[in-house]
Amino acid sequence: MKGVGPSLARTLEKLDIHTVRDLLEYYPARYEDRTRLECVSRLRDGQYATLRLRVTDVDARQAARRRLNIIRVAAEDETGTLVLVFFNQSWLKERFVRLRGSEIIVYGQVRYGQFGSEMNAPDVEVLAEGDSDPWSYGRFVPVYRLTEGLTQTRMRQLLQRCVQQYVQDMPENLSTQLRSDLNLMDVVSAHRAIHWAQSEEENAAARRRLVFEEFLYLQVALAQMRHAEGEGLQGIAFKADPGALGALQRTLPFILTNAQKRVITEIWADMGRPHPMNRLVQGDVGSGKTVVALGAMLLASRNGYQSALMAPTEVLAEQHFFNVERLAEDLGLRVDVLFGSMPVKLKRNALASLEAGHTDILIGTHALVQEGVNFYRLGLVVVDEQHKFGVKQRAALRQKGENPDMLVMTATPIPRTLTMTVYGDLDISILDELPSGRKPVKTHHKPLQQRSRVYEGVRSILQKGGQAFVVCPLVSDSEKVMARAASDLAEDLQQNVFPEYRVGLLHGQMKRDEKQAAIEAFRAHTCDVLVATTVVEVGVDVPGANVIVVENAERYGLAQLHQLRGRVGRSDQQAFCVLLSDTTSEDSSQRMAVMESTNDGFQIAEQDLLIRGPGEFFGTKQSGLPAFKIADVIRDVPILEISRAKAAEIVASDPHLKKQEHRGIREVVARKYREQLLETVA
Ligand code: ADP
Ligand code: MG
Repeated sequence: MKGVGPSLARTLEKLDIHTVRDLLEYYPARYEDRTRLECVSRLRDGQYATLRLRVTDVDARQAARRRLNIIRVAAEDETGTLVLVFFNQSWLKERFVRLRGSEIIVYGQVRYGQFGSEMNAPDVEVLAEGDSDPWSYGRFVPVYRLTEGLTQTRMRQLLQRCVQQYVQDMPENLSTQLRSDLNLMDVVSAHRAIHWAQSEEENAAARRRLVFEEFLYLQVALAQMRHAEGEGLQGIAFKADPGALGALQRTLPFILTNAQKRVITEIWADMGRPHPMNRLVQGDVGSGKTVVALGAMLLASRNGYQSALMAPTEVLAEQHFFNVERLAEDLGLRVDVLFGSMPVKLKRNALASLEAGHTDILIGTHALVQEGVNFYRLGLVVVDEQHKFGVKQRAALRQKGENPDMLVMTATPIPRTLTMTVYGDLDISILDELPSGRKPVKTHHKPLQQRSRVYEGVRSILQKGGQAFVVCPLVSDSEKVMARAASDLAEDLQQNVFPEYRVGLLHGQMKRDEKQAAIEAFRAHTCDVLVATTVVEVGVDVPGANVIVVENAERYGLAQLHQLRGRVGRSDQQAFCVLLSDTTSEDSSQRMAVMESTNDGFQIAEQDLLIRGPGEFFGTKQSGLPAFKIADVIRDVPILEISRAKAAEIVASDPHLKKQEHRGIREVVARKYREQLLETVA
């Protein structure tokens, strides 16, 4: 692009702008309403205002004591003088000296200062001589995210030129039919209006079109994945077994909840279809997902197929083995485990038994995906805590059988409105009921200075036969450092706080059997207090534990706190959660307040999303949520729904997007989502 030299190009690269298209798609972060110009005499303290002024005077001085360099620029209109103040930007002095007598547009917040009306570091734009329709006022003015070495004015000018020269070349990927059906603006007008916002209405229409388009690409990619992974493939049609639910219920020491029964039935119906199942079971911590998995595996086994149950950590896999084995045996199922760290001999036995078809359910970690693990007849794969697994691992497991059914279980309480964005390629079953008799965990936020009082409270619970988790403060990313911190804390608690009780330890650096022994001791109640790092975060199930103390709770996000709290309250006893923290930031006190006020994982997730915003909420790439340029996954859910329906229509009629009118969509989907699509097909 003319006027973009190597140095500007480098600056733009920092914003991930490499091409003219990237620049055109660099949508404003927000807009400022500058449709009305103010005059100086009418300014009110605190008001945001746009004014057209003439520069009259420049004064720069050093405030020696505070090492501050202050520039004051006087600028006036017919009604008075406004002082523009800039700190530590000494290079501006020259600029304003040159501007003496020129007209400028300023935008900023008004303050009454010692010299009358002032504006601190306003946006300033210079009006060319005789310029009657300046870019920077009289309209909604776009405000772009910037990076070092780039000013707002420069960016606006750049985009203005870019739009003028190139917007005409933006390819239209939405057919005329589609646009008229949904009343969408064309691509050229939309890009012009999104940068040039003439009116709020026009801008909203432009935004609607661009948001739709962005969602559409994602939804088409998801629909294609779904087609490639499911609808388009031949899978196993498991035969229904009317006696299975009764058999399952009879082996359980408790009554299945209605939600569990409903979800198991949904899964069985899906397993009966001749296409591979791709189903997500979403249930808050403690909602009883393991039993649901067992139900699915039971049907597979009654059809003569093997199941794999994959967990994110060895501790969890071990625990599933412990829980599932007892129940499964009563159902006549043979259960085995496989870990990376298992002694070779045991491993060899497990593999042989698997290959011979003696094993019905194999439980393990990532080790299950590895080469050399051969199933006799794999029919069902259950993945627990899916956020730790990517599409890639799912595909790898799938290859170990002939398109086995796939069940993914997650406690990550993603707000309902968002599940279809993130898991758009999966069907969803929701376990929205906790086993009856569960009492909400009572949660209290306490300052650190009350730590010893809190531990006295814990003691009184221990005296009544309770058990406590203590979560070690998150002091480091390093497992080693955390292990050290946890054992120090355990020792301190044992020596100085609970000498009369048995204090155990659980952290990521312990050997597998040490971890197992620690959990077993806690479960068997030969240990009263278990000090743990966040290994307890996911899934550890010890129903007797009824109090959890989280030290330095401000260091955890809401979702993590909710997970941690979910370790208690797993029986009909009243359980407690104490969040120890000296909160300083508004964020963390908000989080503590949310935790105190609700036990509902979905509500918490929704709050979390509001506090942190979707970018941070999903954080990792693994979450599968793409970075959107304009769409907002909270605000734009209605458009998301429309795009999802449209995408389903498109892919159903033209799965490989071969039609002329889908070519543009195919190209963008291929470019944006290639990686995900390849992984699926691979
Ligand atoms: P999660 O959904 O967090 O994985 P689990 O499957 O670990 O939950 O179950 C939590 C606890 O609740 C376990 O101790 C389990 O035995 C128990 N449980 C599961 N379903 C029921 C039920 N219907 N009634 C009573 N207890 C149940
Ligand atoms: Mg679980």
